[in-house]
Amino acid sequence: MVKVEACGICRTDLHLCEGDLEPRRPGVVPGHQVVGLVVGGGAERFAPGDRVGIAWLRGTCGVCEFCRAGSENLCPRSSYTGWDADGGFAEYAVVPQDYAYALPTDRSAVELAPFLCAGIIGYRSLLRANLPPGGRLGIYGFGSSAHLTAQLATAQGAELFVMTRGERNRELARSLGAGYVGETADRPPVPLDSAIVFAPAGDVVPYALEAVKPGGTVAVAGIHLSDVPVLNYERHLFHERDLRSVTANTRRDGEELFRLVERLPVSAHTTVVPFAEVDRALSDVAHGRAAGSLVAV
Ligand SMILES: [Zn+2]
Ligand SMILES: [Zn+2]
Repeated sequence: MVKVEACGICRTDLHLCEGDLEPRRPGVVPGHQVVGLVVGGGAERFAPGDRVGIAWLRGTCGVCEFCRAGSENLCPRSSYTGWDADGGFAEYAVVPQDYAYALPTDRSAVELAPFLCAGIIGYRSLLRANLPPGGRLGIYGFGSSAHLTAQLATAQGAELFVMTRGERNRELARSLGAGYVGETADRPPVPLDSAIVFAPAGDVVPYALEAVKPGGTVAVAGIHLSDVPVLNYERHLFHERDLRSVTANTRRDGEELFRLVERLPVSAHTTVVPFAEVDRALSDVAHGRAAGSLVAV
């Protein structure tokens, strides 16, 4: 059992509240980017007072073909924080200890919260995008996950191209070192090695596919995407361009991410939201009014 210090606000919370994602339990408490202090519950991995993180993935079967192959993110019996079980928009939360992350205490809870989903999913998206060392990465949509992923990529030598709507997002992208910033439909000035679509809009996918070079990869990061328009084989897929989805994460993704966060200059741009105003903050996410990450305290 964890006393919640902070809980990040994610677009998936919005999808759940708006019904794009059917709740798996009536009245479930959303929130799956939880940072808190262990207060009890008989955990062996953690002592009372330890700081832990609770993420989206909170249970897998451990015996199916996917779990045994190291792809527990694809486990058909997986369960999720704030969807199957109550999440972190609360004073206390519980989590099976094997699915909690040990977190550093030298950063604030607010600063760490966005890494629990935006960071982990962004990290997995970057792996799925097959970006070569020093390669050119396109990012479509520049919200919470994208701004952390951009930093992870540039800190490891990538060149960054950001296509997004909203001047605040474009400004944040420039401040984080994007060499090119444009509108969603703009073609970046040079062919890209990889692109990640963070915008929940299927009509962005063809733009991303046209922007990558032969052999390039486009990864779609969202859990929910509006319909992808009809693709033209020659324009969008031929020359061995790959289109891949990203589904949740494994615990290993999370552990690797927190090791990287400790040694790379990656930090979340956060706006703190009082706990009682989470509804308003979700509407800010819906209307693209929030730059960076929103965190409820
Ligand atoms: Zn999330
Ligand atoms: Zn399984």
